[in-house]
Amino acid sequence: MTAQPFTATITGSPRIGPRRELKRATEGYWARRTSRTELESVAANLRRDTWSDLVAAGLDSVPVNTFSYYDQMLDTAVMLGALPARVQPVHDELDRYFAAARGTEDIAPLEMTKWFDTNYHYLVPEISPDTRFTLNPVKVVAELKEALEQGIPARPVVIGPITFLLLSKPVDGAGAPVERIDELIPVYSELLSLLADVGAAWVQLDEPVLVTDISADTPALAERVYTALGSLAKRPAIHVATYFGDPGAALPALARTAVEAIGVDLVAGADTAIASVPELANKTLVAGVVDGRNVWRTDLEAALSRLATLLGSVGTLAVSTSCSTLHVPYSLAFETELDDNLRSWLAFGAEKVHEVVTLARALREGRDAVADEIAASNAAVASRRSDPRLRNEQIRSRIDSILASGAKRGNAAERREQQKARLHLPTLPTTTIGSFPQTPAIRKARAAFRSGEIDEAEYNRRMKAEIADVIALQERLGLDVLVHGEPERNDMVQYFAEQLDGFFATQNGWVQSYGSRCVRPPILYGDVSRPHPMTVEWITYAQSLTDKPVKGMLTGPVTILAWSFVRDDQPLADTAYQIALAIRDETIDLQSAGIAIIQVDEPALRELLPLRRADQDAYLQWAVGAFRLATSGVADSTHIQTHLCYSEFGEVIGAIGELDADATLIEAARSHMEVLDDLNAAGFSNSVGPGVYDIHSPRVPSTEEIANSLRAALRAVPAERLWVNPDCGLKTRTVEEVTASLQNMVAAAAKVRGEAA
Ligand code: GLN
Ligand code: ZN
Repeated sequence: MTAQPFTATITGSPRIGPRRELKRATEGYWARRTSRTELESVAANLRRDTWSDLVAAGLDSVPVNTFSYYDQMLDTAVMLGALPARVQPVHDELDRYFAAARGTEDIAPLEMTKWFDTNYHYLVPEISPDTRFTLNPVKVVAELKEALEQGIPARPVVIGPITFLLLSKPVDGAGAPVERIDELIPVYSELLSLLADVGAAWVQLDEPVLVTDISADTPALAERVYTALGSLAKRPAIHVATYFGDPGAALPALARTAVEAIGVDLVAGADTAIASVPELANKTLVAGVVDGRNVWRTDLEAALSRLATLLGSVGTLAVSTSCSTLHVPYSLAFETELDDNLRSWLAFGAEKVHEVVTLARALREGRDAVADEIAASNAAVASRRSDPRLRNEQIRSRIDSILASGAKRGNAAERREQQKARLHLPTLPTTTIGSFPQTPAIRKARAAFRSGEIDEAEYNRRMKAEIADVIALQERLGLDVLVHGEPERNDMVQYFAEQLDGFFATQNGWVQSYGSRCVRPPILYGDVSRPHPMTVEWITYAQSLTDKPVKGMLTGPVTILAWSFVRDDQPLADTAYQIALAIRDETIDLQSAGIAIIQVDEPALRELLPLRRADQDAYLQWAVGAFRLATSGVADSTHIQTHLCYSEFGEVIGAIGELDADATLIEAARSHMEVLDDLNAAGFSNSVGPGVYDIHSPRVPSTEEIANSLRAALRAVPAERLWVNPDCGLKTRTVEEVTASLQNMVAAAAKVRGEAA
């Protein structure tokens, strides 16, 4: 191929719109408020603005087809003719696409899961024995043409065949999807030839799966697939992008094929291997030195010297982001409440593009050509290093001394005795996971408070009224351990981040979580400390309304870490311990206020698990350590619970026991309690609350159904270690659904309690 090599690009870009225009347009379309024409014009405008900004900033190759109405894996499934049969009755193409994404009254949507270790979620394609792969290139070709007509040096981006198949799931008795790789090679071949016809000089095939251990033989597979695609007579130059980690043996494997460019994530992965791959000498290495998924400004001096060491080992060196900037907010320009120092440490999407261009220019014209940018970057590095908010010696020495004393609670069996004597709970105690329905009244109060229509006192009064309602409801239902319902929490991480020092909440730092859903992760930039108690007032108010125990509700350190943008200037473990210390102080304050049961949620424990097996033990060690630091400050008579949001524990099953919570409330309804056997096999011996019904569905489970779940649980766990609770928080359900379901749950517990006695 004779395509001109490029020197400055990014892997992909955000698409939801700088002001979330696409969110509004798609949601409007779904609600039939927005016409198809309007939706399409919002989308076309966003694409045009994105591309022209990237060209204006100085990129010489621009990723296209990174726009999506919902998700890029779903786009790929459409492109490969791999939508499930159940959506075929929807005639209109776009509506069929949305049906696969969101479901309709009678069509179940595709399952959704996390995109590697990011907070983006993709739709999982289903591969059945009946799936017939055929090329449907309408979207990618249209976007390519659209960009070329606008004079954009466009590089279409598509998910590669290996990643597509390894992230898909088999259905209807099909074998592993990856076994069908040979059927995809002709489809991708046809695609490449078509893209060449339309005028693409380059194509980018995303293969992030090559940085994982999902399958042992991915390097060999990569070599085979890309040897085949590389040998095509008519095709654009091929750029295979790996990201989120070190491609390891896949790097030399790809380098042995005829592809023209290989992308590596130099922020997450090691670059030592590059010099030892001789075949890279005649390739373009797309060096991801600008962090595409975190918000920190690049240390240009350091990045430049790193790039300089690669120059001798590769044919052409192109500068890029480590991955798509889909994972960071659009631009710092919207943030008006940042102090100058903090602002100087940050780079969002637009600023990262500028960094890429600056580095490419330095490689081309020499360091002096970008002397001003480097000086500004050095000043930011120095300011960040010396800012007192980044080092709180008191916090650090407290953590050291607690860790030195072991951060462990007393013997679990003795704790159980003490808690039993204090709490007087029946066997099979009933409880919930924490949140109650987010009613229209709660949403209205929050909006009114935000807009200044009501003051804080009025807002607090309304929240307390909600708490009183939820307590009264739980008393009526006869639950044993009550919750306050979490009405005051906008989000289980943001609520704490807003009250802790060391965090900054952005005004417009939205990133896509899935479909039209966006989140605004807080930025954890400094040492974390807790200036005042965060939950005590709400919980003690709830407790004052009832004689039943009310649980304190906290989010765990790993989850707060996982759902924030985290500082990159110290090991994650150190940051986790700091958050843990703040949570620990909160548990002690709750205990002093008379609260006897505290739940510390860690739904993200499994999410942060490193992609490579070799790194997982070290992670689990500090993750468990942080949880124990957070929960070991209380007396043995205080009952600590945790909640984890999933049932397939896999690699983390051993860690669940290590957390040493007095009770672990987990999702189990959808897996029919099988998780209990796995826990037993891992030697778990504390109490457990396997969710007895699925809160993700509006269906109200019958008493008998729940009783059967409990009977199944009792075959694996003795009654004195079993709790009765739903799968997860109830905030997405209606009051009617929750009332009916909990009524049946309490009745089922009573029934099974009777049988056991
Ligand atoms: N306590 C939280 C709730 O009930 C837990 C949410 C979660 O597990 N994600 O909403
Ligand atoms: Zn949950």
